[in-house]
Amino acid sequence: MEALVRNLIKEIGENPEREGLKKTPERVAKAYDHLTRGYKQDPCKILTDALFTEEYDEMVLVRDIEFYSLCEHHLLPFYGKCHVAYMPNGKVVGLSKIPRIVDVFARRLQVQERMTSQIADVLMECLVPQGVAVVIEARHLCMMMRGIEKQSTVVSTSALRGLFKDNLPTREEFMQLIKPQRFV
Ligand SMILES: [Zn+2]
Repeated sequence: MEALVRNLIKEIGENPEREGLKKTPERVAKAYDHLTRGYKQDPCKILTDALFTEEYDEMVLVRDIEFYSLCEHHLLPFYGKCHVAYMPNGKVVGLSKIPRIVDVFARRLQVQERMTSQIADVLMECLVPQGVAVVIEARHLCMMMRGIEKQSTVVSTSALRGLFKDNLPTREEFMQLIKPQRFV
């Protein structure tokens, strides 16, 4: 990767040997290794390692999970907030695992739509709840810095599974709970 970045710097018209750029290929390679580490992680294992039997059968919501990802079309960041809810079915998962699952999919080359459904699907498959809802609100640097240059645009995507898809009151409760709150 370092050799590629050195070439990229040349193609941009810069001198890869000048002081400020000399170590850039090494730094970029390290950064991309970090930003794409999700490929090496198994989200299902993270979930199944932290399942607990519990009678609780009301909605569990983890909201405002911040994430940073890379759009696969431009390799530019998109970032924002992810809200994840599920309705248990005899099992709950350690709460800290939900943001970790978001991260596993964010740290890959992504499109927001796919990331949203991947999070929902892995929860359905490995936690086997009565339902899952995922909403992502994000800003895309490929829209903000180039192309249409619309700086304040927020893109929202949602994936609803099970009860959240079939049961209107459940869905409405979720939508109500993820509305922006002023005092938290
Ligand atoms: Zn893009």
